[in-house]
Amino acid sequence: MPLPSPPHAIALALLIACTQATAAEPNPKDLLKQAESEQPAYLQTLKSLVSVDTGTGTEAGLTQVSAELVKRLKALGAEVQTHPATPSVGDNIVGTFKGSGSKDFLLMVHYDTVFVPGTAAKRPFRVDGPRAYGPGVADAKGGVAMILHALKLLNDQQFKGYRTLTVLFNPDEEMGSAGSKQIIAELARKHDYVFSYEPPDKDAVTVATNGINRLKLEVKGRASHAGSAPEEGRNALTELAHQLLQLKDLGDASKGTTVNWTLAKAGEKANIIPALATAEADMRYSDLGETDRVQADAQRIVKKQLVVDTQASVVVEKGRPPLARNPASTQLAETAQQLYGEAGYKIEPIAMRFGTDAGYAYVPGSEKPAVLETLGVVGAGLHGDDEYIELGSIAPRLYLTVAMIRHLSK
Ligand SMILES: [Zn+2]
Repeated sequence: MPLPSPPHAIALALLIACTQATAAEPNPKDLLKQAESEQPAYLQTLKSLVSVDTGTGTEAGLTQVSAELVKRLKALGAEVQTHPATPSVGDNIVGTFKGSGSKDFLLMVHYDTVFVPGTAAKRPFRVDGPRAYGPGVADAKGGVAMILHALKLLNDQQFKGYRTLTVLFNPDEEMGSAGSKQIIAELARKHDYVFSYEPPDKDAVTVATNGINRLKLEVKGRASHAGSAPEEGRNALTELAHQLLQLKDLGDASKGTTVNWTLAKAGEKANIIPALATAEADMRYSDLGETDRVQADAQRIVKKQLVVDTQASVVVEKGRPPLARNPASTQLAETAQQLYGEAGYKIEPIAMRFGTDAGYAYVPGSEKPAVLETLGVVGAGLHGDDEYIELGSIAPRLYLTVAMIRHLSK
């Protein structure tokens, strides 16, 4: 066939451009309809993910699900790399899609759960009325499936309006993300937007999450026979009790900071004055200044001792940082509200007391990336026998991711 003459070529190019422009703006109701028709496939994916136990550290299950996720991402057209999540078991899976736009998106969530091998066999995935149940069905396999099927919808729409769309699945969130926090932080800094797919317990998006620290209190005393020479000893347990009482109010309700002593250990035998006593506290906070404040207060308070000749020390070990309230996340939540509203749904921005991987993605004081959490499926009962998702939230939430990416790519 002869090549079209130049005027035809221009006309054809214009026609294609017009068609693409029209195709780039499907109305919200159509997008929602497409999401609704994706629901059966979403549930099929979710069932297959839930049927394999992937408790953090469970090598066989994590390997099996990882292979499945790599295959699925490749089938969607991604370039996929896997990185061992040392010191955790399993791989960080990174899928990259290249588009023609100017905005970079990172969609991330974990594929480990808190459940031991055998749980999926005991309580297999099941749909009952308006809900589906199973280990990890919401936290966060519902989020993994949400990412895969939102990508599927964008593919079906032949949407390539982003510059880069990156997917990260990590295998160790439930144990603190020791082997994925670095790659999360590195990838996040290369993207304009980070969406994290933990499950909300109602139709909400999360603009702030708590940071988690651990306080470690140690008291050293002197051992001695409790019967024949107690006066020679220096009782570390008595001093620990004293310290716990005076360190019990390190939290600050006005800032949302909590500090709760949850573990204690002392002594070897009942007839020995204990030489060592230790305790640990769980600290949650969202105000970035609170780690230093609690450390300083604790170190000042601990100097007031009861038992002479004992030494008490306290340190704050930093864990997962918070996604602090910030303008970029708030603005993303407003965009989510607007787009959700266009499809006839309501969504609210919330702050949550959990700590999540969104904290590793957030860069304090920076507009980039803008981070939004709980884009996963609505569910509850996390980490328990009755964990479930709301089936009615699948389609609107698939729509939300698709609409957000399309809108923010403009
Ligand atoms: Zn989770």
